[in-house]
Amino acid sequence: MKSSNTERRHFLKIGGAVLAAIPVLAVSGHAAAAQNAAMRTSLKYQPKPEGDKQCSNCLQFAPANGCKLMPGDTEIAANAYCVAWVKK
Ligand code: SF4
Repeated sequence: MKSSNTERRHFLKIGGAVLAAIPVLAVSGHAAAAQNAAMRTSLKYQPKPEGDKQCSNCLQFAPANGCKLMPGDTEIAANAYCVAWVKK
C-alpha cells in the first residue's frame, strides 16, 4: 500500500510540472506573434496603404513589424496604415 501511495505522489508531482509548463509555452508562443487588437481597433488599423501613407513611411513605425503606438503587437505590416499615421 505504501508503494502505491508513493507512486501516486510521484505521478501527481510530474503531472503538476507538466500542467505548470503549459501556460509558459502558451505565453511564449503568443509573444512570438502577437496583435494588439484593442489599439488596432481604436486606431482603425488596416492591412493596406491609404494612398501613399503606410507604416514604412510613418514616424511611429518600428521595423521590422512593430509600431510605437501599438505595444506588444509584432505583426504590423510595412504596407499597412492607421489613422495615427505621421510623415517620417
Ligand atoms: Fe503605427 Fe499607424 Fe504609423 Fe502604422 S501608420 S506605424 S500602425 S502609427
